[in-house]
Amino acid sequence: MKIVKGTRLIQSEYPDLLKDESSLSGGNCQLAAWPENLSEAASFIKECAEDRVPLTISGARTGITGGAVPMGGAVVSSGLMQGIKKTREPHIITVGAGETLDSIQEFCQREKSEFFYPPDPTETTASIGGAIATDASGSGSYLYGSTRKWINRIVMVLPSGKQLNISRGAHFFKNGVLNHPVLGSLTLPSLTRSQPAKNAAGLYIRPDMDLIDLFIGSEGKLGLVAEADLILQKRPHAITSFAVFCSEKQFWELRTDLMNTKLRVRELEVLAEPCLSFLQENTGQTFTETGDWVLVASIEASSEEELDTILETLDVLLEGRGVSPDNTWGGFDSAQRKKLKEFRHLVPETVNRIISTLSLDNHRIHKVSTDTAVKPEDLLKYYTVMRKILKDSGVQYIVFGHSGQGHLHANLIPVNTGELERAMKAVELIAAEAVGFGGTVSAEHGTGKLKAPLLKLMYSEQELNEMNLLVQSISSC
Ligand SMILES: Cc1cc2nc3c(=O)[nH]c(=O)nc-3n(C[C@H](O)[C@H](O)[C@H](O)COP(=O)(O)OP(=O)(O)OC[C@H]3O[C@@H](n4cnc5c(N)ncnc54)[C@H](O)[C@@H]3O)c2cc1C
Repeated sequence: MKIVKGTRLIQSEYPDLLKDESSLSGGNCQLAAWPENLSEAASFIKECAEDRVPLTISGARTGITGGAVPMGGAVVSSGLMQGIKKTREPHIITVGAGETLDSIQEFCQREKSEFFYPPDPTETTASIGGAIATDASGSGSYLYGSTRKWINRIVMVLPSGKQLNISRGAHFFKNGVLNHPVLGSLTLPSLTRSQPAKNAAGLYIRPDMDLIDLFIGSEGKLGLVAEADLILQKRPHAITSFAVFCSEKQFWELRTDLMNTKLRVRELEVLAEPCLSFLQENTGQTFTETGDWVLVASIEASSEEELDTILETLDVLLEGRGVSPDNTWGGFDSAQRKKLKEFRHLVPETVNRIISTLSLDNHRIHKVSTDTAVKPEDLLKYYTVMRKILKDSGVQYIVFGHSGQGHLHANLIPVNTGELERAMKAVELIAAEAVGFGGTVSAEHGTGKLKAPLLKLMYSEQELNEMNLLVQSISSC
């Protein structure tokens, strides 16, 4: 196993290990290891536990909350824990934690062409271990849910270095309590309000839940996800994907129309105003279409007849809302889907690029963004409040995200320390509003280091203490 010791050496030779996509600065560690398999990972983690060295787990470091950025101690990277294997079950594959989402889709395409892995976070260079640790979601989560639903088994290395194989369906909590042969007696925190449906803030808690769900989304606090069995889904007959350039009013109307259809809508996304002008200014991309807002959606068809129905329905909906065909992009082939995906991806990527450049001059500057979500039916009211807070901050911003799931990302671009403080205040206010609507402070990115302070908006001190007790209890196993 590759092990590197020395704070300076790691800083000079492995600078990427000390940062992720959040631009959080100050990352450092004195020890780093790249295990290639489960037993190497277990022995390194055991040594760290015995020597009481704080450990940070690092995946592909595409996270935007600083969770993989070490602040001292040691780092264990899953980067070399590779391998994708078929199993006896045609719809299940086994993957090493370091495999990327890209490599998993490529494997499916090559070896299991009738299947695909549904969770589709925009950043496909993320590792599957990181995606499981954050319970990542993507645009297709509108139809398919988050990563959690597609994990059938995980192999964990607990913080003590012990290995634990957890299969879905094997162990359940009953009224918040579980007695497990390795983990002992576990008690879930009793929450005063149940967690929102789409949520990545805090441990996942449901009184009668499956044990595996406690580990999924635990952001490295309960150990390293070393390996996982993923559930695959049969590919649909066809997918139609389209972007509609429109006014704000048309967007909200079309969103409601699509949410109310019986069609198999897979994704229902939005690039809100001022995303288009932001892209024009910062990427040189020009748009001949009119409208400040873009609705991006895709719909699955199980047959040619259903495809015809989808196209007819879309024609009626667009005409009914006064959208000209000249203001739409769309198609059925993978090239068209790729174009739409790249278009959507360009927005956060451009923000990240600008922030990285700004942080070279002022190392305190980092990405300031929201990952808040509310019930889909509350989104319009919530967005109105969110926009006012963003405008009042006086900091440049854009808003985009998963409109079908009530989940919008505001990205703020502070250019100096004063703006940074105002941007962070705006994020806190928006998060508090989301909680007021019964929503979450983080729906898919997790809270990591940067967003951890927001947890207190969502949970009482006692609830957070009970979560910590549960983490400590598992850490001492
Ligand atoms: C442009 C862009 C777009 C993005 N779009 C999305 C999106 O659509 N949806 C979404 O959900 N996220 C998105 N993200 C965020 C990020 O890609 C996800 O959070 C991803 O799941 C992180 O995976 P990673 O391997 O990079 O993890 P890292 O960043 O390395 O780590 C993230 C967290 O998981 C822990 N961790 C990592 N690996 C393991 C492991 N094997 N075992 C236990 N804990 C581990 C780390 O300690 C850390 O707390 C985006 C990021 C960028 C930069």
